[in-house]
Amino acid sequence: MSILQNALDSIAIGLEDFESADERRIISSTRNIFAGILLLFKHKLCELSPVGSDEALIKQRVLPEIDATGAVNWIGRGKKTVDVQNIKDRFESLNISVDWKRLERINKYRNDIEHYYSTLNNESVQQLISDSFLIIRDFIADELEEEPKSLLGEDYWKILVDVNEVYAKEKQECDSSLEKLDYFSNEILYALQAYRCDECGSGLIETEDSDKAIEASFKCRACERESHYEEIVNDAVKQFYADDAFSAHKDGGDKPVVDCPFCFDGAYIFLEGVCVSCGDSATHECVRCGCNIPPEEISDDNVCGYCSHMWAKVMAE
Ligand SMILES: [Zn+2]
Ligand SMILES: [Zn+2]
Ligand SMILES: [Zn+2]
Repeated sequence: MSILQNALDSIAIGLEDFESADERRIISSTRNIFAGILLLFKHKLCELSPVGSDEALIKQRVLPEIDATGAVNWIGRGKKTVDVQNIKDRFESLNISVDWKRLERINKYRNDIEHYYSTLNNESVQQLISDSFLIIRDFIADELEEEPKSLLGEDYWKILVDVNEVYAKEKQECDSSLEKLDYFSNEILYALQAYRCDECGSGLIETEDSDKAIEASFKCRACERESHYEEIVNDAVKQFYADDAFSAHKDGGDKPVVDCPFCFDGAYIFLEGVCVSCGDSATHECVRCGCNIPPEEISDDNVCGYCSHMWAKVMAE
């Protein structure tokens, strides 16, 4: 069977799993749909592989070989095929575009639902289906240059379109409910809008309150778990800044979030200069030497680490 047919079958079976009333099929739904997307990508790499290269572009191992005319050809070797990172590298090099952030979200959800979430339900998988729909639709149309509806078949196409529409509408309702609250900083609003339920992974978090965010309660539409602001805001903000924190750690640069020097259990958003829990702001410019105080040295005092150290020395003498 061709890779393309495998891809389409995998997506179709994943959608049948999703539609099933049997909760045990939820995990296989996420596995099949993700596998189907990767197979679509591999199909493209296969198509682009030179004739006689033994599908070099989908093989992890590719070695040069001299043919009868003396020319060097790159030939695929072994059974191991490309993984997500290999596909990403090759696509980038071949100018094939995919929304990798979205794909990463699908992959993370698929992984979390197998190892981490304690509640499984069809509603919490909606975002994965909706994300998958956008990737599959764009890839088939833009990169395979086919009509997604006819390639996937009318019935499966309709499931994808419907879930995507329902999810987009529900997500919009949740987002607007969060916008009604007052936050110490808008970044906190964006972090909560990007937050996923701890219990089931759904992105459908809403509130019925409309005053101060710190006094509000939030509810997951998919599993109905309720949480108070304080219970989710730190995680939400840390997740929201996770990429920035990673690159600050890897390449150097300011940590985006540190522990609050005033209340100690809140996340302090350095760029915004505010703690998400107590709302306090620290001094970012040392009053003694005028330098910018780096995130690690933010304190309830108004001097930098160096000046505070010097001051302690003077006092001790
Ligand atoms: Zn939930
Ligand atoms: Zn604080
Ligand atoms: Zn100083």
